[in-house]
Amino acid sequence: MSNSKQQKPFEKENYPISSEIIYYGDRKFTYVVIQEGTYPPTVNHTEAPNYFPIPDNYIIKTTWGQASRSRTIQYSIYYAEEKPHYLICFGDNLQYQVVSAQSPFDASVELHKIITPDKKTAVSGVYLFGLQLKCIDRYRKGRPRELKLHEELSKTTQIKRAKGLEKKEQIHFENSIKNFYNPKDRVVLRTLDFTIENKEYHVTFEDDDSVKKKQKLQSMAYVQDIENIPSNAYRHLAAVESTLPREYAISQTRQEINACMGELIPINFIDLNSTIVQEGPLEEPDITDTLIIEQVVSATGKGAYQSVKKILEYIIPSYIKKGVLDPAIPTIHLRISGDGRNVGRKVKHVMITVALLDDSMNLFKPDCHYTTVLFPGTENYPTLTVAVNALIQELQELSNNGMIINNILWNFELFFSSDWKFLANCLGFNAANSNYFCPWCEITKNQRGNGQVDWVISKSMSILNENPIAYPGHKLPPLFNMISLKNHVPDKLHIMLRITDRLWELVLQEIKNEGLFNDISRNIIIKEMEKLKIRFEFWKIRGTENWDYTSLMGDDKLRVLRNFNLAKLFDPERAALIKSLWNGFAELYDLLGEIKTDPQYFRLKAKVWYELFLKKTVIDPETNNILEQGLYRSSDVTPYIHVLVSHVWEFMLIHKRWGLNAFSCSAVEKKNHNHVCYFFKKTLKNGGNFQNKTSAICEILEHENRLLFYTQNNVSLSYPKPQNIHIL
Ligand SMILES: [Zn+2]
Repeated sequence: MSNSKQQKPFEKENYPISSEIIYYGDRKFTYVVIQEGTYPPTVNHTEAPNYFPIPDNYIIKTTWGQASRSRTIQYSIYYAEEKPHYLICFGDNLQYQVVSAQSPFDASVELHKIITPDKKTAVSGVYLFGLQLKCIDRYRKGRPRELKLHEELSKTTQIKRAKGLEKKEQIHFENSIKNFYNPKDRVVLRTLDFTIENKEYHVTFEDDDSVKKKQKLQSMAYVQDIENIPSNAYRHLAAVESTLPREYAISQTRQEINACMGELIPINFIDLNSTIVQEGPLEEPDITDTLIIEQVVSATGKGAYQSVKKILEYIIPSYIKKGVLDPAIPTIHLRISGDGRNVGRKVKHVMITVALLDDSMNLFKPDCHYTTVLFPGTENYPTLTVAVNALIQELQELSNNGMIINNILWNFELFFSSDWKFLANCLGFNAANSNYFCPWCEITKNQRGNGQVDWVISKSMSILNENPIAYPGHKLPPLFNMISLKNHVPDKLHIMLRITDRLWELVLQEIKNEGLFNDISRNIIIKEMEKLKIRFEFWKIRGTENWDYTSLMGDDKLRVLRNFNLAKLFDPERAALIKSLWNGFAELYDLLGEIKTDPQYFRLKAKVWYELFLKKTVIDPETNNILEQGLYRSSDVTPYIHVLVSHVWEFMLIHKRWGLNAFSCSAVEKKNHNHVCYFFKKTLKNGGNFQNKTSAICEILEHENRLLFYTQNNVSLSYPKPQNIHIL
């Protein structure tokens, strides 16, 4: 009986070899373990102060009391819906039962009501169930338990188990960090990904970092906006890749940015209905998609305006930050640009933008031109007058008084750039085919061949401001009358496009004049174009004997100019002569874009080229033989050729600081073109029907303002990639 001298309580046992355990405490209990049971992952515990874990699927026989009155009763515990139920079976054949879902104590009280109804006390339920026994507990914990299959568990249990594992791993991770990293390294366990069968679990340990989350959403909205990724396309992607944020979250972010920008740069709508006048069919359409045309036509009558001052207020601080503007030299060189895209043959989509010449390195980017006026409709003086009314007032104020931004008074020098037609409209001036055709000098049509006169910029805005019809051909007051005429700079893109058109037209004309405009030469041209990878066709104009042909796109024009083999169409001498004119023009075009080109050198080169253009045929009066081949007549000179030869050098000289590239309209054209193609189609797609007159222009401006928001707030387009580690 040496054991009995041991300090109580103690267990006399040889578990699990022997299933009998004798417990010596305040009382003696003898147990026989029938079924050891397991601790479920969501194990419950007995009440304070013991907190003994309560097993599942557990059966034990307990004997207690003095030998004469001892009882043997069977106690079981099983879990149902994660709660232990206590079952006591007694009687000779265990035919009587007491069950409690409350506690071992409660079960014991119920039992004693039956077996000792006259006594008020009951034996402790914990001891009856043997829950204090350390030997079983130890053994149970040391042995892997057979758990239910994941798929057999309820959803809540599945999640509880994952959480249990997560907590264990987190503790383990935190304990291990010190063995691998310095505490200053701030190692944090963030996520744990694992799979159970095919079910993926993604466990996050941190609180949701709302700032980071917001940044990510803004980045996603940014990507969607610059790439014009449709929402439904994104929704598909997010359905495939679960780590992508949901589309509605991005859409909400977009709305928030719209609201924020709407406060800073409000979009004001302009009613243009009264100014709609039916015009004759437009020249070559830039956009031919019938759906887009339909949408743009339906949207005419409304325009939108965003305050230039508000735009400047928003963007100027970042230009200072980038070092583009210096508050010590507080002058901003603001370029206004106008562009009208021909959408079909009836309407235009007109866009007026502002940009900072000071940022001349980036002016080729459409995003550096900020839209102030936008409208689908016609590009004529009455419409423009209404559309630009607010803009003109602001420009006048900027020009007269400057503007204070962040306590700095900025002065403004204003510039204007557009194609010929837009410029003429804004100047209240003649069409290009009028007798007085040049916005800058007073040349007339029949003076074009007069190489003796050096035409220079001779008109001035101040004279037009005093008297709008001071110069012949000027009929209405100039709209941008606060911008000097020397700062109305011709667009080099259009110079190239229109002069190339003319040179090509003259070549075709010559073939026609020779009577050689037949299938053979047409095929030669088509083949030669094919070689240059340009799709080109001829077709007969209905009801006439005249032929029309594919109009060349911008880049195609340069390729034709540089590479078209004229020897396929003309005799070698003639081909060489025309080629030298074409080459001369290509060279001028290159020089025009170079900021280092000396304007006087350009002037000389242009003059030589002009003389070649007008080269006269020399005929031997006696024999009537051609001694020297000539080229074209003065009536072949177009307004653009006049500008190239007479004024471009002067503009190069005046605007040497920026270079003529800084006045190119191609970025604005591109911006306008892309916007029309995307947004007028998009509104249709979204609604199925035409929404309303302002929905597309509103979307264009909101889109543009969001881009401003992203750049001004440094919204990131990329994040550092995590280091991937692969452990097999
Ligand atoms: Zn002129």
